[in-house]
Amino acid sequence: MKEVPLLPSVQAFLERDHGNFIDGQFVIEASAEKIPVINPDTGNVISYIRNSSASAINDAVQSSLTSFRGKWAETSPYQKGMIINKLADLLEQNSEELAQIETLCSGKSIHLSRAFEVGQSAVFLRYYAGWATKINGETITPSLPSFNGEKYTAFTRREPVGVVAGIVPWNFSVMIGIWKIASALVTGCTVVIKPSEFTPLTLLRVAELAIEAGVPAGAFNIVNGNGRAGQELISHPGVSKVTFTGSVPTGISVAKGAMEANLTRATLELGGKNPAALLHDVDAELAVQGLITTAYVHQGQVCASPERIYVHRSRIDEILEKLSKGLAQLKIGSPMDESAQFGPLANSGHFQKVKNYFDIARKESEIICGGESLGGRGYYVQPTVVLAKSSNDTLLREEVFGPITTFLPFDTDEELISLMNDSPFGLTASLWTNDMSKALRLIPRIEAGTVWVNTHTFLDPSVPFGGVKASGMGREFGGAFIDDYTELKSVMIRY
Ligand code: NAD
Repeated sequence: MKEVPLLPSVQAFLERDHGNFIDGQFVIEASAEKIPVINPDTGNVISYIRNSSASAINDAVQSSLTSFRGKWAETSPYQKGMIINKLADLLEQNSEELAQIETLCSGKSIHLSRAFEVGQSAVFLRYYAGWATKINGETITPSLPSFNGEKYTAFTRREPVGVVAGIVPWNFSVMIGIWKIASALVTGCTVVIKPSEFTPLTLLRVAELAIEAGVPAGAFNIVNGNGRAGQELISHPGVSKVTFTGSVPTGISVAKGAMEANLTRATLELGGKNPAALLHDVDAELAVQGLITTAYVHQGQVCASPERIYVHRSRIDEILEKLSKGLAQLKIGSPMDESAQFGPLANSGHFQKVKNYFDIARKESEIICGGESLGGRGYYVQPTVVLAKSSNDTLLREEVFGPITTFLPFDTDEELISLMNDSPFGLTASLWTNDMSKALRLIPRIEAGTVWVNTHTFLDPSVPFGGVKASGMGREFGGAFIDDYTELKSVMIRY
């Protein structure tokens, strides 16, 4: 095992005292409770953050309000786009440093941190930067008749909602943070982000780069802390919109808290129990490779990943055999080892949760491969495949958010649709087939925010993303996010 050497700048960053980033500066609340940041590869503490007090959260929101009414409002759409593009450049220029920090606190493979947390974040920033100059209303010809020869004209304006509170989970802490930061800034809002307490470090460095890119102090603040800090942020009266990504129970509490506090609007990107359907004509090599790369990437800790796999009965033995063989070849190892393909789970609580699902699978279903944690350091488990006894097996009903796929055979298209929709969630789904006529007939019947054909978990900034049913409310990406970050103002003129 050969690990990537730690950059001196990363070591120096870890040794800093970490707190919040408010009004363009790092701020340490000396009296606030310290929360340890743990490396999932070793279980060792690598740094600490502070659990923000209500007073620190108030400072952050006030600073964002000031910037919203002042510096950021005075920045032209063209300049906004230039600044966001510059932030993308700076992410790329500091790629290795950001990727190493993220890998150390999330357990994400260094490849993924480089390619997604940094690389894709830069791609998303550039995509969003283009929208800064395209936030427009429309002109309208009023419909009522004129009584005395007077005339009317009308137009709408898309105006930024104000200060946005962004709550971020631990699985893709930089990229999901960037989706929220970019959406807010290009529409003219300002933003206070609360990262997950498990992965709080990298966005602090991104905030510093944002200032270097030209984002005015206060337009993008960070408050760290646990759920209590998150709840205080979303219920602050200065916050006009909440954008939350995380689990369903927390999402419900966030939406309620925001609504009760100030009738604050909330968009929610929540969990999933995403089905993949392998039809009778499936290309087995393509589908198995697809499952390995989408269901087991980042140890399955991806909201959009497939967890329920329905395979036509005529093909299931072949698929299970190929998948088990493929998974056995994955090299498990430290996320800082460039040759490793599968690393640890992100934190100790999640490690316990996934091990519990192994126990449930042993009792209710059949484990085809994997199903054990690895002894030794850190939070490592095996990539696992389960064959369900029926659609009622727990492993087909609850979100694991880990490296377990659960299979069930099906016989007819009607049965398939009913199985795919038999879930409270509706984030993503996929069909694996070359029968496009069949795929196009099935797609409208699938209850999911995104349906892929012959791929899964493929996020493109131009394609709207979000869930139906318990998987959320609202959409990110494409032009769809604009409605959520702006208010429509109607103007009517008599002449
Ligand atoms: P979580 O709900 O436990 O926490 C998410 C964030 O909410 C964290 O920052 C946490 O500190 C904060 N939080 C906790 N309680 C809060 C409260 N009462 N008020 C305000 N904030 C609070 O989720 P997690 O364990 O970090 O992430 C895993 C979950 O996120 C999975 O269910 C996964 O499917 C989901 N997820 C969804 C998407 C998506 O786009 N739909 C993307 C990534 C993850």
